[in-house]
Amino acid sequence: MRDTIPEPALSTQLLEWYDRHARDLPWRVAPADRKAGVAPDPYRVWLSEVMLQQTTVAAVRDYFHRFTSRWPTVQALAAAEDADVMGEWAGLGYYARARNLLKCARAVAAEHGGTFPEDHDALLSLPGIGPYTAAAISAIAFDAPEVVMDGNVERVMARMFDIHTPLPDAKPDLKARAAELTPQDRPGDYAQAVMDLGATICSPKSPACGICPWRDPCQARAAGTAPELPKKAPKKAKPVRQGVAYLAQRADGALLLERRPDSGLLGGMLGWPGSPWAEAPAIDRPPFAADWQSLPGEVRHTFTHFHLILTLRTAPLPDGPAPEGLLIVERHDFRPSDLPTVMRKAYDLWRGGSV
Ligand code: SF4
Repeated sequence: MRDTIPEPALSTQLLEWYDRHARDLPWRVAPADRKAGVAPDPYRVWLSEVMLQQTTVAAVRDYFHRFTSRWPTVQALAAAEDADVMGEWAGLGYYARARNLLKCARAVAAEHGGTFPEDHDALLSLPGIGPYTAAAISAIAFDAPEVVMDGNVERVMARMFDIHTPLPDAKPDLKARAAELTPQDRPGDYAQAVMDLGATICSPKSPACGICPWRDPCQARAAGTAPELPKKAPKKAKPVRQGVAYLAQRADGALLLERRPDSGLLGGMLGWPGSPWAEAPAIDRPPFAADWQSLPGEVRHTFTHFHLILTLRTAPLPDGPAPEGLLIVERHDFRPSDLPTVMRKAYDLWRGGSV
């Protein structure tokens, strides 16, 4: 039988801590302002949640500021050019998020009059919004008593209840425990409070139990097992893929690039033409016949499911139209910041920068 901990006391303790220690985040309404009646903007909540998937708060801040300065409303984002949004997203990774961001903004503008729906199922039906993001928007923007499970919350729950089942098998149990603790009063602030606790105090390697608002009821602290939780199933080693990228420049500085297909890795992003990426040695497939020279060094980059080693070849780009399926970008139109990180590394290596 489960040990039961009185739910109101726990959520109240945590909310009191949050009222004093909430992180100052650009997309957040501070607890005092929220109590004074300031409502969060669902657009900003949604945008931040999409950006934060697989990405740290520190990495997201500048992107969030740039996006909300350039496109302050969901209608403004819906009306943006695809290439502008992909360019602003460059470097943040997981580019399917950016494509879905645009689709979602356009769906909200076209089908919901520019207002995010409050209904959970309606949120779930929008492009790029899965169960986690729908729960986060419902809780944070609309103060619904949703259970919002991210890595921080999983870690806190595993420790609070001293759960040793490895992830991902432990997920249903952790969610059930989190649901038991979620209050009806201030559920939006509570959801953010658990995330903050995990991000600032209940950290992965060295939890600061001495200053934790939940130190007394925490079962892992009492058992001395906190630093080893949550347990995780061993990860498979990532395979290594290899590829060749071709960097060609015309005498006037114009560059040969490609817009990658919408589906697949780095979909919709600018990049250098290249060979397929495979575990077998890369096959040269230059975009046009020329005396291609190999550059010393190589680009190394890690994606979610594999490591990539990219070798680079360069050649002068002749005058005339671009080879089929490729783009010639004039020097003054080229912004290295529009490239996704792996393509930017290739550019930097070519230009003599470090990778
Ligand atoms: S007491 Fe320690 S292990 Fe338990 S929730 Fe707080 S920081 Fe985490």
